[in-house]
Amino acid sequence: MTHKILVMPGDGIGPEIVTEATRLLNALRERFGLDAELEKAPIGGAGYDAAGEPLPEQTLKLAREADGLLLGAVGGPRYDELPWEKRPERGLLAIRAQLELFSNLRPAILYPQLASASALKPEIVGGLDIMILRELTGGAYFGKPRGIDTREDGVRQGYNTIIYSEPEIERIARSGFDIAMKRDRRLCSVDKANVLEVSQLWREVVERVAKDYPDVALSHMYVDNAAMQLVRAPKQFDVIVTENMFGDILSDAAAMLTGSIGMLPSASLDAHGKGLYEPIHGSAPDIAGQGLANPLATLLSVAMMLRYSLNEEAQAARVEAAVGRVLDDGLRTPDIWTQGCDKVDTQTMGQAVVAALSD
Ligand code: NAD
Repeated sequence: MTHKILVMPGDGIGPEIVTEATRLLNALRERFGLDAELEKAPIGGAGYDAAGEPLPEQTLKLAREADGLLLGAVGGPRYDELPWEKRPERGLLAIRAQLELFSNLRPAILYPQLASASALKPEIVGGLDIMILRELTGGAYFGKPRGIDTREDGVRQGYNTIIYSEPEIERIARSGFDIAMKRDRRLCSVDKANVLEVSQLWREVVERVAKDYPDVALSHMYVDNAAMQLVRAPKQFDVIVTENMFGDILSDAAAMLTGSIGMLPSASLDAHGKGLYEPIHGSAPDIAGQGLANPLATLLSVAMMLRYSLNEEAQAARVEAAVGRVLDDGLRTPDIWTQGCDKVDTQTMGQAVVAALSD
């Protein structure tokens, strides 16, 4: 079956890095038999420019029809004065909500060639490859009641609610086990079950779902310990699954273990494995249009799409191996450049990865 891929370049460096991703996808089609068709649509500031909306109706229609979505990045100073409903970021939130993308995959991978980019010692982080799965549509960020009000005694108070239903926990747990099955089959569920009732229910449901995945080794960890373990011995983890706020914090900490924002892909999936893939960085207006952007996070987002939405594991592995080869050859965009390496621009890096694809 032909895979339908929608590419949405967005703003800032988005078009530059998505051009390299398109080059890569076309090479996989032409040289390695990937059966895929590509469509392109505007989103974010580009959506506003084209159709007056950050998520134009036509883009949403194409997104619904696609099997996999690739996004560059959205946002930029040109759009900062727009009302909230028209802001580029709104396009991203809207597409996540419309497509019910509740499962956020944030890998933290440190290529051995870049071990010196991390603030941690190379022996602790070199070769790091963990996946943090964050629930994206529930918990404290959406729970009600929420607000700021004044008590009867005149004291103001603010409050939010961490709330998860059993079905919400079950679907993110299943997503975690499914991902673990595609990796080293170890899943660590992170919660705060010693203090929070919502975590006690979380743990109970995760245990129940585990019965359907006898090949996955499940463990549990409190979030404070998980934060400590991530910086003490991050390689002990394979897949971590956790609720929205814990995942927000832990995934940023894990991303920084790797030292470069230009290297990390991400995905947001629905219950059927359809997903939106994007680099974790933003639109970097400070370097847009200068050929300085590192396209590797976007190329690695393509690899994730091949693996998690299109079930093309061999093609995913091919892309990741090509990125490894290019780093072995010493090619570096300015953000990851160190003495003794070749400093290259966005396009040269993209072309080099395409040239390094092999059987
Ligand atoms: P940013 O990630 O765009 O940039 C932070 C720093 O990292 C900048 O110095 C930038 O030059 C550098 N950088 C980012 N990506 C890079 C790459 N691929 N190669 C080399 N260097 C890279 O974050 P910001 O500056 O806080 O935000 C800029 C704009 O992006 C804002 O409008 C913000 O709202 C938006 N944003 C969008 C997303 C998204 O689309 N998912 C995420 C974060 C921020």
